[in-house]
Amino acid sequence: MNAPLLALHEVSRHYHTQAGVVRALDRVSLDIAPGETLGLVGESGCGKSTVARVAMRLTDVDEGEVRLDGEDIATAHGRALQAGRPRVQMVFQDPAGSLNPRATIGQTLEAPLIVHRRGNAGDRQSRVANMLRGVRLHPDMASRHPHELSGGQRQRVDIARALMLDPALIVCDEAVSALDVSVRAQVLNLLLDLRETLGIAYLFISHDLAVVRHMSDRIAVMYLGQVVELGPRDAVWHHTLHPYTRALMAAAPSARPANRRLPRVVMEGELPSPLDPPSGCRFHTRCAQATYLCRSSEPALRLHGADHWVRCHLA
Ligand code: ADP
Ligand code: MG
Repeated sequence: MNAPLLALHEVSRHYHTQAGVVRALDRVSLDIAPGETLGLVGESGCGKSTVARVAMRLTDVDEGEVRLDGEDIATAHGRALQAGRPRVQMVFQDPAGSLNPRATIGQTLEAPLIVHRRGNAGDRQSRVANMLRGVRLHPDMASRHPHELSGGQRQRVDIARALMLDPALIVCDEAVSALDVSVRAQVLNLLLDLRETLGIAYLFISHDLAVVRHMSDRIAVMYLGQVVELGPRDAVWHHTLHPYTRALMAAAPSARPANRRLPRVVMEGELPSPLDPPSGCRFHTRCAQATYLCRSSEPALRLHGADHWVRCHLA
């Protein structure tokens, strides 16, 4: 595999709240190669958006390393950090909230070019028009305001905004979750086309396993702040190693491999609080196969085969 574009190594991020310490990320390691799509999936609250914020340098980490192009961005300051920022951009779940309602689409798209002193006014106008075409919108859209656009159009504008500075990586955090099914498919296909033509890498975050499978080269599954399974898409799909991944698949019939009969895996109980994660394997309170070992000792993330990692004593 190519040298990673982005690499998180043993990253922990704990939030100190009045109720106690939320272990949003606990020793999370993952990496993304240039042009690769890594899918990140797991139930709400497992830490996906915190991974996104770490990748975007929107939050500090408590422990661990975050490397972009080999350079440690967890500790970089000032110019180095500023220079690194355009390399990673984000597409949000709710572009209504990320697009300035008072600015025209053209002004919003032009803003990062002005901030980073790219080109003169004429260059910037033509780049805005080209980028709107690139996301299959009419260049006339530049004079409109966000409220005049549909949800799907706003999502395309947000993708165009993310592309303005030629990023190497785009973090998509639940980027299509709020869209209707038909619009969602169009936006997903647009993202796939952009990857093909521009060679961008994605960190593609979704709670929806079917969508993650459609988009990803590799898949990381998170549970209560930890990566529990990570591997090539087809390996995770057809040779699933973690009971939690199996349970997610069983719970999402549309995501299930058509030719595969899955054992009926029913997740027991509620998702435990990240304020007080279970001892041993964090999944043991909901795992039908849990043994004494699972309750008492925390499994490490171990390699199975060439590139397939799992955090389970029973795998
Ligand atoms: P996901 O995106 O998978 O739903 P998040 O990364 O948003 O998960 O959250 C992980 C955990 O961290 C959750 O328990 C959430 O409540 C908590 N959390 C996230 N941000 C903060 C914050 N700023 N302060 C306190 N707790 C937070
Ligand atoms: Mg989230």
